[in-house]
Amino acid sequence: MNKTCYGQLIFELSRPGRKGYSLPQNPWADTPQETLPAALVRTQPVGLPEADEPTVARHYTNMSNNNFGVDTGFYPLGSCTMKYNPKINEEVAALPGFTSLHPALPADYAQGALRLYDETQKILAELTGLAQFTLNPYAGAHGELTGLMVIRSYHMKRGDTARTKIIIPDSAHGTNPASAAVCGLSIVQVKSLPDGTIDIDSLKEVLGPDVAGMMMTNPNTLGIFEHQIPEIARLVHDCGGLMYYDGANFNPIVGICRPGDMGFDVMHINLHKTFSTPHGGGGPGSGPVGVRSGLEAFLPCPKVVCRDGHYELVKEDGETLGQISSHLGNYGIIVRAYAYLLSIGRENAHLVGQLSVLNANYIKECLKAFYKLPIDGLCKHEFVFDGLREDYGGDHSDPAHATTLDVAKRLLDFGFHAPTIYFPLLFHEALMIEPTETESKDTLDAFIAVMKQIAEEARDNRTMVKTAPHNTPAGRPDDVRAVKDAIFTYKPTAD
Ligand SMILES: *Cc1c(COP(=O)(O)O)cnc(C)c1O
Repeated sequence: MNKTCYGQLIFELSRPGRKGYSLPQNPWADTPQETLPAALVRTQPVGLPEADEPTVARHYTNMSNNNFGVDTGFYPLGSCTMKYNPKINEEVAALPGFTSLHPALPADYAQGALRLYDETQKILAELTGLAQFTLNPYAGAHGELTGLMVIRSYHMKRGDTARTKIIIPDSAHGTNPASAAVCGLSIVQVKSLPDGTIDIDSLKEVLGPDVAGMMMTNPNTLGIFEHQIPEIARLVHDCGGLMYYDGANFNPIVGICRPGDMGFDVMHINLHKTFSTPHGGGGPGSGPVGVRSGLEAFLPCPKVVCRDGHYELVKEDGETLGQISSHLGNYGIIVRAYAYLLSIGRENAHLVGQLSVLNANYIKECLKAFYKLPIDGLCKHEFVFDGLREDYGGDHSDPAHATTLDVAKRLLDFGFHAPTIYFPLLFHEALMIEPTETESKDTLDAFIAVMKQIAEEARDNRTMVKTAPHNTPAGRPDDVRAVKDAIFTYKPTAD
């Protein structure tokens, strides 16, 4: 690792007059030389860095090497479904027929693109057991907001204005209550049982004529399948509410069971998680929203409709909740998901779910002798450890015990991305692992071996773990100070 390049700006590598090119005086040119009108000529130097090409190439290459991605190594970040994204998706999305299409082109000139949109929404409808999807929302959280707006429109349309509450389990992802609040709903929390599933008694207490609906993630953020779904859906429906499915964890049930069959009325899917689009650092994403039959009309515009084999764009109709994105959302992401779905095929869809569950359970079983497993038993695509076991340095009565943060930092030394840490909030030392189906057994075994080694180090050589990482470009940034005392400007080092 070239540490000297870390933290140096291209401006610091600049030398006056240095150029990345050389041009001949060009005595052969038959193009006459033109001078710009004086009014357009800059009077101050522009202040761009001046550097030779090798310096520029090395600077950016070294910077990219300081980064970590799915193409660099194993990325078991729980809740994020960081699966490998097949390169064919990129090739298809880069076809000029897609990239050079103007979003404002009349539908007549974009029939192929609209057909791809329509077929993608139909495949999603088939996989989820719902009637229709909009692909317009930009991300999971945006899909949540859109879906909740559908639920609100449904109640408003019936003149039922008293339904202002949304029920959300305490294990939910933070975007759930945030989206509900943005939608103007008030949040009612229900508790989880020790086995991680919803406490039905706690649910019954909050049901009533003011409930708009309930948001659920299944399997939930602990990777546990909510086996009481039919009962929960019945209770919520009986009191007049609708069931919202947070489909961020759709991965382990793809091709095996369907939210529509479980009693959900509205859901979103994170195309950038389940359907293999590169993501991280905030985007780009796509959060299609599906609804059961009877709710289609509320979906946002523009809507893609097919009439006699001809695709049209509906920009406004009587019932729609309106427009929630520009045009049809992040179209390039939809193309990637379509390519992935077609390359998997209907006959292989179930393998996505099965293999992601197998991989997660394999890691869990191999490591539970070293890390605390608060909820034992079969998990779905991900699971949560509650830090190291007592006999492996995780004894909290010892002030110098090894924490989940220490384990995550030490993992970086071995070229693995850390799992999600300190989420979900149900456990103090949460360490949430999601391997996804795209990893080979060799990769899983290598990860397991390192996790065991770290546990042994935490017992026998704790300083090694507590002072990690030892060979990454950055060590342990002070994240509290970074928040409280943020520095947004950079002072070049004097040379
Ligand atoms: C990722 C995630 C979300 C939010 O999705 P974004 O696309 O990041 O907005 C919501 N719920 C769960 C359970 C998630 O894992």
